[in-house]
Amino acid sequence: MEFIDLKSQYQASRELINGRIQAVLDHGQYIMGPEVGELEERLAEYTDARHCITVASGTEALLIALMALGVGRGDEVITTPFTFIATAEAIVLLGATPVFVDIDPYTCNIDPALVLEKITPRTRAIIPVSLYGQPADMDELNAVAERHGIAVIEDAAQSFGASYRGRQSCNLSVIGCTSFFPSKPLGCYGDGGALFTSDDELAKAMREIRVHGQSKRYVHTRVGVGGRMDTLQCAIVLAKLEGFDWELQQRQRAAATYDALLAGNAAGVRPVGRREDRTSVYAQYTVVLEGRAELQAVLQAHGIPTAVHYPVPIHKQPAYAQLAPEARCPVSDALAGKVMSLPMGPYLSDREIRTVCATLLQAASAPLAMPV
Ligand SMILES: *Cc1c(COP(=O)(O)O)cnc(C)c1O
Repeated sequence: MEFIDLKSQYQASRELINGRIQAVLDHGQYIMGPEVGELEERLAEYTDARHCITVASGTEALLIALMALGVGRGDEVITTPFTFIATAEAIVLLGATPVFVDIDPYTCNIDPALVLEKITPRTRAIIPVSLYGQPADMDELNAVAERHGIAVIEDAAQSFGASYRGRQSCNLSVIGCTSFFPSKPLGCYGDGGALFTSDDELAKAMREIRVHGQSKRYVHTRVGVGGRMDTLQCAIVLAKLEGFDWELQQRQRAAATYDALLAGNAAGVRPVGRREDRTSVYAQYTVVLEGRAELQAVLQAHGIPTAVHYPVPIHKQPAYAQLAPEARCPVSDALAGKVMSLPMGPYLSDREIRTVCATLLQAASAPLAMPV
């Protein structure tokens, strides 16, 4: 069993993907070729955001978003410690200070009720993460941000395709950032990412920052980065977009099968909570449980791969702890030791899911009896 089965996905879309790659090889415009603009148009349409700007990765998207907002030394940016390191990395790289706010124990997303007390005159932005593919509490966060004149950047690296109160993830705040890392719900075959906004000024700034701050050839209006997504990767995402809605349905099917098999179990295995007013794209299907290390070993012994997203919250990471010495995030600290992601993806069969759940529940009900 694969944790994320990219091979089956390629086999299912082989012709389309090969055709798109061949077209790029034939025209030879490897940088900013026609597929770049085509993808940006398609993704803007998909999310209903006015602008989409493709970039080199999800990390680069976060960095460029903060640069476009003018975030720098002396500024504070509120975010969650329960995320991939890139969320905080972008803040720190610009010389700003990450201010960590704890998560809601039900969804594992940043708790909007705790944000207000962390806002200071130096706060410039809030970066919620739509973790595991489920949008954060964006309306509550937007409302707090608006009252204080600060920006909300959605880290939607895991949630492209999810919806929230009828709107699409990536278009839920002033800027949305996503990633096309191969294992994300919409992935390419290398690194890639995108920025979304409906603000014309910010869009212009982000487009320029992506290409070394260039407004015209060799005129550098601002300091930028080498942040383009290459044509081949855009072509691959265009091919994968064709089957994306079907894949999202399959992800829902797989999650519903997991939910049904885990419902009311006596082994204390609880899927991470989801809210009624939004959908998840299940970048991960994650459960909360006790005795994780032993259970992972048992599953591994049965050929079932698992992963931990994420074992150490960022305010406890060696390079970040001294940047946020006051951070108190007890929910994140506790859940970091209890979350475990199970195999997930559109090509995972109900039969495989039954095997995962049976093995997991048996091991979790009798942890001491199982050989490790
Ligand atoms: C994957 C991920 C990123 C970074 O995306 P890359 O394309 O790998 O740079 C940022 N934030 C979160 C929450 C992610 O899951």
